[in-house]
Amino acid sequence: MNADASAPAAFAVEKVSKRYGRVQALHEVSLAFEAGTTVALIGSSGSGKSTLLRLLLGLEWPDQGRVLIDGQTLQPSQVLPLRRRVGYVIQDGGLFPHLTALGNLALLPRHLGWDKQRIHQRAEELAALAHLPLEALQRYPAELSGGQRQRVGLMRALMPDPDALLLDEPLGALDPIVRHELQTQLKRIFAQLGKTVILVTHDLAEAAWFAERLVLMRRGAVVQDGCYAELRDRPADEFVARFVEAQRPLPEAAP
Ligand code: ADP
Ligand code: MG
Repeated sequence: MNADASAPAAFAVEKVSKRYGRVQALHEVSLAFEAGTTVALIGSSGSGKSTLLRLLLGLEWPDQGRVLIDGQTLQPSQVLPLRRRVGYVIQDGGLFPHLTALGNLALLPRHLGWDKQRIHQRAEELAALAHLPLEALQRYPAELSGGQRQRVGLMRALMPDPDALLLDEPLGALDPIVRHELQTQLKRIFAQLGKTVILVTHDLAEAAWFAERLVLMRRGAVVQDGCYAELRDRPADEFVARFVEAQRPLPEAAP
């Protein structure tokens, strides 16, 4: 593991395969995610995106191949320190319903031995960054809007100032206006923080908004790895072309 605790993390997988019963969730996938870069993982539902993120976090283990963190093979003994280095956000935020927003934010820092004042100070700092009103910190998840829950989920991941963020369809469940607003804020946050970001989405426009590099997956394999213009102008196969075409333009903008 990287000795410099504040350096963004680098991730890689080498020929990883993962099977669930009859389903080959990942088949010999090799990818590198460089430190400090933002990469979007896209693809249809069931293509293996979430499985790949879980492997990178040591939440699951590959049947074959290996996961590398900062160039070293991930071992079970390194999973706890890794989880502290990497913020993980899932769709709907994954908040504990019986804890207030602040209670959710405080969980890991308290475990790490932070005092109350430090926790409050960091929570307020992140509320400003995420444009969350301070009074929302005292509310329970059920008393927050979807967009606010999502922000709190993201803030929770950022509390310990992680070296990387792994986001699994973090904006999937939001209405278009809130989603648009959060996309704008998140992109600014990523640029400000300089962390390694891996963002899963099934929305090509969202992927292109966040990342220069898009990795398109299908049936557990990488079909194309490149920028949006490459996918659009030089699709690797028919599937990529259909995936790009499936983004419907608004009627008045259509040719
Ligand atoms: P995505 O995130 O791209 O939608 P996933 O990585 O969640 O895809 O899933 C890939 C495939 O593996 C799917 O067919 C899914 O049903 C299957 N799968 C994922 N996790 C499990 C699991 N814990 N048990 C059984 N099958 C799973
Ligand atoms: Mg998924």
